Amino acid sequence: MLLCMVTAWIPISQAQDSSTGLAGKVICLDPGHGGTADSDQYRVGIGGEREEWINLRVGLYLRELLEDAGATVLMTRKEDVAIPLQDRAQLAVDHAADLFLSIHHNATADTAVNFPVIYFHGHVTENKASIALAKHMAKALVDGLYRDRQSETPVGIMSDHTIFPQAGTAVLRHSYGIPALIVEASFFTNPAEEQRLKHEAYNRREALAYLRAIKCFFEQPVDTIYPKNSLVAPLQPFAVLQEADRMSEMALAWRDNYREAKRIFHDKDTARYEEACALLLQSVIAFPDSHLAGDCLDLYAALLRRMGMEVEADEMQRRRHEHYLEN
Ligand SMILES: [Zn+2]
Repeated sequence: MLLCMVTAWIPISQAQDSSTGLAGKVICLDPGHGGTADSDQYRVGIGGEREEWINLRVGLYLRELLEDAGATVLMTRKEDVAIPLQDRAQLAVDHAADLFLSIHHNATADTAVNFPVIYFHGHVTENKASIALAKHMAKALVDGLYRDRQSETPVGIMSDHTIFPQAGTAVLRHSYGIPALIVEASFFTNPAEEQRLKHEAYNRREALAYLRAIKCFFEQPVDTIYPKNSLVAPLQPFAVLQEADRMSEMALAWRDNYREAKRIFHDKDTARYEEACALLLQSVIAFPDSHLAGDCLDLYAALLRRMGMEVEADEMQRRRHEHYLEN
């Protein structure tokens, strides 16, 4: 349970009250992507709405709300243009920002999927401030955008190494040391969600959720961010499908593969343990930021233990704890 003074849904008039204290805070907002409508064929919903347009609308609304609350806001882009990833992070570093927020919306092959996914950089044990911010974001987004289905809406909070295994994402890697997140509030590949995302009132609701989370975050002392690999030994990169490949046929089986592996585990069908491991791996590779990916790794570790592979099981468990925040 998160402790926060702003627990109930707050009307806009109160949300904009500058007395609630972001004065003196420097916040860098990064509306993801931009300027790629001609070259990029997959960041678009079935109804024609493009991710970078949604990200920008939400970002501009959030800028207004944060400035009304007294914060100084840096924008990595204010229009539909391409900005190099490292430059986006550098803007936050150069101005000693107190917080960096990269605003995105997600895509996957399974069009039924819709829930928030939040990425931090590195490891759970080391990036404590970003984890604290992520928990506030998760609560605010579920309250703000998934009000009618709160109990059935999972939230994934995970390392960016789950989607870009070698080095994580550029914006979070280059801003490491500042509390920083990439937040994907919802999936534009879900047709109903895409329709909602076209409406400015809905974009504004999302911006209000971010505002609430940021206020909650600064109500408590900001936790430490330890240097990467100072407390956690490096984990071997785990290759997964990236970007456009996530829309492939294989990605559709992510949930079925997990369920079948779970059945094999519960039936103690020892002859099929290796098959179960392969199914879990396929689920994680196809949809590494699904809310079941952490469970896949838990189950994988348990199967390895049953097969007597203790060292491998420990390593899988370590990956699970450092890359996926447990619900
Ligand atoms: Zn994106």
